[in-house]
Amino acid sequence: MTQRPAIIVAATPTSNGDLHLGHMAGPYLSGDVYARYLAATGRDVVYTTITDDSQTYVSTTAQRQGLSPEALRATSTDAIAASLRALGIGIDGMPPIGASYRETVRTFVERLHRNGRLRLRKVRMPVARATGQVLFDGFLGGTCPACLAGSSGGVCEGCGHPNHFDQLLDAAPALDPGAEFEYREYEVLVLPLEEYRERLRAYYDERRDLWRPHARQLIQELLAGPLPDVPVTVPGDWGLPAPFAETPGQRIYPWIEAMPAVMYASAWVAAQRGPAPAGTDDLWRRERDPEIVYFHGYDNVYYWGVVDLALLMAHDDRYALPATNVCNEFYELDGQKFSTSRNHLVWTRDLLEGVPRDVARFYLALTAPEFQRSTFTRPALRTTTGARLVRPWNELAAQLALLTGKVVDTELPTTENGRLRAKVLTKRFAGCYELATFSMGRAAAMVADQLDRLRAASGDLKDDPAALGDLLLEVRALLAGAAPLLVDVAARAAGQGVDLRLDDSEPPDSITAFTLPALAGDHDGTGRS
Ligand SMILES: [Zn+2]
Repeated sequence: MTQRPAIIVAATPTSNGDLHLGHMAGPYLSGDVYARYLAATGRDVVYTTITDDSQTYVSTTAQRQGLSPEALRATSTDAIAASLRALGIGIDGMPPIGASYRETVRTFVERLHRNGRLRLRKVRMPVARATGQVLFDGFLGGTCPACLAGSSGGVCEGCGHPNHFDQLLDAAPALDPGAEFEYREYEVLVLPLEEYRERLRAYYDERRDLWRPHARQLIQELLAGPLPDVPVTVPGDWGLPAPFAETPGQRIYPWIEAMPAVMYASAWVAAQRGPAPAGTDDLWRRERDPEIVYFHGYDNVYYWGVVDLALLMAHDDRYALPATNVCNEFYELDGQKFSTSRNHLVWTRDLLEGVPRDVARFYLALTAPEFQRSTFTRPALRTTTGARLVRPWNELAAQLALLTGKVVDTELPTTENGRLRAKVLTKRFAGCYELATFSMGRAAAMVADQLDRLRAASGDLKDDPAALGDLLLEVRALLAGAAPLLVDVAARAAGQGVDLRLDDSEPPDSITAFTLPALAGDHDGTGRS
């Protein structure tokens, strides 16, 4: 039976800076772990993302840093790609934002327009008096009308609720809060989410068990009130030109662009590997039946979980709908939110200068903010990974090297009991990686727990080829289960011919003796390897 192809999309990074550990422990590592798991079960997987170049935050950061948006985008895109590569995130490069990209976006919004899905609405938007700049998203700051926390325009980072047009309380221009502004009326095109209420509700009901509780709460809160009109065009000079006669001179709202952007990105990834799909949205077509999964932070649930979903629905039956959105909470550093402006952060590549990436991936997975905020500290990384991963791993590796010394590369028998245990292990790992119960934190904890058990078992092994065969079968299952997290040690094992598939095939009657590659890293939390 042919298995469903999968498209995994990690949050589209804004090209206004590099990715820090807070970003990595959220969408990028979890998406990577899930993509690697699916590939290990034999699935065809496209894992992608693309820089969100039209976000207002590119403009505001460029102005703060005295750079041109183009220069900021270029350096940020390179930095993002380098950081993803450094951590072993299997996103191969950043798709270029060029003519084909813009064509994909234009075709997507023109089809919505042609099919009568967009409505012209009169709205009030704040405008800076001195510059005439229309203020939305990152151009605007104020108070969230849903939770009363400080918020930008567009969506509140704290509660996840949207605010469009003139809804932000205590609004002020973000770059210059003292600057005078006024509200002006504009006619813009919108996507009226209310028209999708029944389809949205049916969609969420059907996939209820696949959503994390906090995202489910936000969806319920949104459905409890009138659903907003989402801007499709905005006045001003920021963003791609909107190709509609009713809104001359307006731009496409950046969050609308993100949906066709990831379709383009999927096609670009596929074209790196083989023949390019004929159309840039072909991989997303309903008849192909892809499993689509988004990984992003909680503050993106409104856009990726509601707006972009309605955008797909608005194309009738043209596109497959995502299976779900796996969203994370905030990762903190020493108990406080990561903050670029306060320089309270750890850059990914800085951490990797002193920590092997398998060790970094393990710790980020173990402590990832999957269901609630969690915190990163360097001392905890050292002591935890030394005690729970590196030392036991290398002790098991050393013990196996002794045991297999004389028999390496020979075929050892396995017993029914050993095969049963290996199957149990694989099944438990699958429970950590399958979508409905996905948790890389539990997978990392399970690696540590099973490692401890197998290290103890290796110490009092009977002198019997079948006992060693059974142990190796379990070590192989552990390696396969750890492989989505520990990519370098897994690649070395695979290079030695160790089978790291995670499918439900029966464990073999015999196994070729192998050694466990050692794990680089700090054994005892002192900084020594
Ligand atoms: Zn809020």
